[in-house]
Amino acid sequence: MKNTVAVLTRHDKARLIAPALNQFGWQLTEIDSFDTDTLGSFAGGQSRFMTAQECAFRKAALAAELSGLDIGIGSEGSFTVGPFGIGTYNLELICCINVSAGWAVTGRFYGPSLAQQWLLKDAESLQQALTDIEPDQYLVLQQGNYLKKALTAAQAHNLALLRFSYGEVTLSYDLRAHLSPERRFHIQQAADDLARRLQRLCPQCATPGFWPDKALPGLPCEACGVATSLTRQRQAVCQRCGYTETEPVAASHASQQYCQECNP
Ligand SMILES: [Zn+2]
Ligand SMILES: [Zn+2]
Repeated sequence: MKNTVAVLTRHDKARLIAPALNQFGWQLTEIDSFDTDTLGSFAGGQSRFMTAQECAFRKAALAAELSGLDIGIGSEGSFTVGPFGIGTYNLELICCINVSAGWAVTGRFYGPSLAQQWLLKDAESLQQALTDIEPDQYLVLQQGNYLKKALTAAQAHNLALLRFSYGEVTLSYDLRAHLSPERRFHIQQAADDLARRLQRLCPQCATPGFWPDKALPGLPCEACGVATSLTRQRQAVCQRCGYTETEPVAASHASQQYCQECNP
């Protein structure tokens, strides 16, 4: 049982996370006795009362607690309006905690999502919406209090045609991981990020997650040398012993356009 790690999930996420963590010799076991949807879910219902980061951490802690194992993993995804108010973005977090060693490391993916929602009123608009949807992406159909989840495109098509006699229907992505190929791909990328972070050990005390997350501004202007707000160095701080390492970014100078002196 030494290398067994508990994953808190109800939607078969362990097999998405497992490949990235193979290198650590971990055997993942799913804990499904806890209804993670009570911590907030996508397909309507419960509203979230914690941040995504808190939620992932809480799930990881629960996984360890419920299994009695040292290491627990919890994941949490969220969808929000993208930067500059454009498009939909998906944030996936996978938190891994070791309760006996006393550390927590979180891997992340953040990027654009194809997730959409349509208000449809006839067969023509329905057809148009369905052509945009990726294969194997399941859908949610809603009309007033009427709600059907986990529909294939064909099922959504037939159901929408029936419901049009009562008025407009809203069609949207079912974003639960087992029903969304895009989300599964993003979770895998978050798992890869987690693996990279777990590999980086503190040079002083060997605690994992020694990652240069902290951005220090001050990259000098290429023309006048004044410090700009762009990142000059990245800093890793050990969560356990506080050991700190600072590394320069690839760029040595900032473009004039970011300079308060040259381009006020
Ligand atoms: Zn300048
Ligand atoms: Zn350390």
